Amino acid sequence: MHVPFDHERSNAPLLKGGLAAPNLQEFVLDRAPWPIVVIDTHGRLRYANEATAAMLGWPREQLETMSIFDIAPHRRPDMWADSVHMLKQRGPLTLSSDWQTSKGELLSLELHACFMPIADMDHILVFARDVSAQQRALEQAFRLAHIDELTGLPNRKMLQDRIDKEALLAIQENRRIGLLAVEIKEIRHINESLGYALGDQLLMTLTRRMSSCLRGSSVLAHFGEGEFALLLAQDSDVDDDVALQVGRQIRDVLTTPLRLEHQNIQLTCDIGIAIFPQDAREPGHVLRQAQVAMRLATAQGINQISFYTPEANARASAQQAREAALHHALERGELFLLYQPQIDLKTGQIVGVEALLRWRSPVLGDVPPDAFIPIAECTGLILPINNWVLKSACEAAARWRQMGLPAIQMAINLSPRQLRQPDLASTIQTILMQSGLPPQQLSIEVTEGMLMDNLEQVSKTLADIRSIGIDISLDGFGTGCSNLSSLRNLPINVIKVDRSLVPDVTAAARDVSITRAIINMAHSMQTKVMAVGVESEGELALLQANRCDLMQGNFFSKPLPEEELLPLLRDGKHLPSEALGHQARQRTLLLVDDEDNIVSALKRLLRRDGYNIVTANSGAQGLQRLAEHQVDVIVSDQRMPGMTGVEFLRQTKELYPQTIRLVLSGYTELQSITDAINEGAIYKFLTKPWDDERVRAHIKEAFEQKEMADENRRLDREVQQANLELADVNRRLKALLATQSERILKEEASLEIARDALENIPCPVVGIDQEGMVSFMNSDADLLFDGAAVLLGMHIDDVSCPPLTRLWQTQDGCHHDIEVHGRAYRAVCRAMKGDAHSRGALMVLMPIADC
Ligand code: C2E
Ligand code: MG
Repeated sequence: MHVPFDHERSNAPLLKGGLAAPNLQEFVLDRAPWPIVVIDTHGRLRYANEATAAMLGWPREQLETMSIFDIAPHRRPDMWADSVHMLKQRGPLTLSSDWQTSKGELLSLELHACFMPIADMDHILVFARDVSAQQRALEQAFRLAHIDELTGLPNRKMLQDRIDKEALLAIQENRRIGLLAVEIKEIRHINESLGYALGDQLLMTLTRRMSSCLRGSSVLAHFGEGEFALLLAQDSDVDDDVALQVGRQIRDVLTTPLRLEHQNIQLTCDIGIAIFPQDAREPGHVLRQAQVAMRLATAQGINQISFYTPEANARASAQQAREAALHHALERGELFLLYQPQIDLKTGQIVGVEALLRWRSPVLGDVPPDAFIPIAECTGLILPINNWVLKSACEAAARWRQMGLPAIQMAINLSPRQLRQPDLASTIQTILMQSGLPPQQLSIEVTEGMLMDNLEQVSKTLADIRSIGIDISLDGFGTGCSNLSSLRNLPINVIKVDRSLVPDVTAAARDVSITRAIINMAHSMQTKVMAVGVESEGELALLQANRCDLMQGNFFSKPLPEEELLPLLRDGKHLPSEALGHQARQRTLLLVDDEDNIVSALKRLLRRDGYNIVTANSGAQGLQRLAEHQVDVIVSDQRMPGMTGVEFLRQTKELYPQTIRLVLSGYTELQSITDAINEGAIYKFLTKPWDDERVRAHIKEAFEQKEMADENRRLDREVQQANLELADVNRRLKALLATQSERILKEEASLEIARDALENIPCPVVGIDQEGMVSFMNSDADLLFDGAAVLLGMHIDDVSCPPLTRLWQTQDGCHHDIEVHGRAYRAVCRAMKGDAHSRGALMVLMPIADC
């Protein structure tokens, strides 16, 4: 390109000054759509075209007085000569540079520069292209790919890049790096329940708090929904102690309570630690290992910190395998139900079954529900699975009903996710309708934890379900921290005592009293109690003694497949009558004494009274006997090794309060025995050596006392049951009355409307009741017959108007031309029918002139 040039060393613009008049070249350069500049070796702009001026916002005249250093602030004058030299040597170059506009905005430019001698002077010709928009898009794409938008922290990909780099450095410098995986589970719940705005705000606060724990070139990353990771890359070695110390700091800042928009928030966190290279041979695995450790921490409880172990890794791999297989379990028909009977402890009969889900995987074998239901819950698979459970169980119960088997209740376990579905009640109703199972034959089981999650919404869903007529049981009660009175307002019919609480017969008295407290409290709230996991006769006796209403457990039957359950229902399998509290039984006496000859003598003496006599030689053995037999009266020695008679009877009072307890002793430890009598642990104190007849009389009296108390309790139970039923009947009656009065109101309103309509029909209308009495006349009929008083209440046969009487007799709904009081009418008489019974007839007389 040749450009004429006045080569005097002047600052005059290169082209304008050099050309006398605009010519083609000048015109082309000036108007070219790309920014073009010519710069001299000192960096002065000797020419700038219009596009350059437009791009930078300076007038061309001004540009041509400026230098490259004014518009490219990052260029240094000492380097400019080198650039010129390089272009001269190597030829044209493409490079990037930032130029500043008149408003101070930095533009990203792509420059194509070439050396250009003009009139013996060295110049650089530059074509520029504004690539700011592309640059911004690239940066945005990079941000999106590497940065978590909400917190501004690196995301998983960027963290992995940093791990790779830091791991390389660490290997070169023979030191270790650490990785902490942190999860705050509540974030997901807060997002769902309090809204994402508050959840986001909370995450920002937590990010700030955690960032304060960073040191060296450590990196904090966020993967979303409260899942963080922290790369500990310091100049020095990161060992277990260092990582644990940071882990504890993180835990402290995360679990410090905070307040957001009037809400007090207390979070928990699980932290897993993995160290590179000891826990992962490749940098690409260390993050996964930290997450495996985090899951281990989750399994250990709340706010735990765990280190990676190969065993945890194996568990995590198994979990992943289960998760993958579970995705197909439903469609491949690998899931099925077992049914465990539930028994009424008053009648001993099966009154329901609980549907329990099972998974038989061809690859993994039988997987217990505790191992796959939590996975299904986490992954959301629980929704289709539990809908299948609901449908299959309802269909099974409806099938049994059709087979004529006793109508028992089908109990179904709901999952937390299912309970959060706003349309749950209508889903259940649809399934009931499709299967044909009456709602009274379905009960659902929910756990304490599920209720506490979102009490307000859950209460509403449960009320909706209850209003359909479905019973609701509170499952696993006693393991959570809610107290019964906080559940008072929930529509719960049955409280299921967790099987961990169903006491061992040898359990200390205070453990048993938890169950008893639950039973008493539940009864005071008119709620029934079911004990789950009853495995022995002893446990059953204990529960019976504490007035438990229902039981479920392997003692009666383990969970069964349908084909094994049906014979039990068909044959009416029930608890043996001895196991039922109110059966007439042989009077049972327990004798406890460490001296064999005394036990034998008493046995001999009392056998003639027809008692079933059970013996024990210590307090501990006595407790064992009580679990095995249903004892009415206990006679115990006082001085025995291990446990005194008073101590033994005190425990017995806690465990079997209905027994009558006597002490027979030669030692008059008066104080302790008097105390025991005063607190009700002992009914009577008999002395050794004894008078045979007096002992027999006292024991007989004790049995009578027991039978009277049993009878009172039975009556009490019956009254309670009657009250429960009465309360239920009252409730249903109230609901019925409410619907009836609503219907009556509606009917009255429509009757009113009908009367008004008849009244205003512009022709005579006469109503006659089923007995033939004139019961209604509208105003036109009134006029025709000269006053309603004349006809109303008269029998139609007695009305002196033969055409009307004939018309009534037809009641054929056809038109008849008649004449009444000299006027012609087209008349019709129609019988009125309601609920298939006659309600009389209506006669309408249309004046012929109007027809
Ligand atoms: P759960 O609702 O408390 O069910 C009672 C569990 O106690 C059942 O365990 C039952 O087999 C067991 N059990 C009952 N009597 C005895 C006994 O005498 N001894 C012993 N050792 N165990 C007894 P299972 O079937 O393993 O179920 C465990 C849990 O899995 C259930 O506890 C329930 O929470 C859950 N689950 C079962 N089926 C379903 C389902 O369809 N959906 C949902 N969401 N959860 C289910
Ligand atoms: Mg259950």
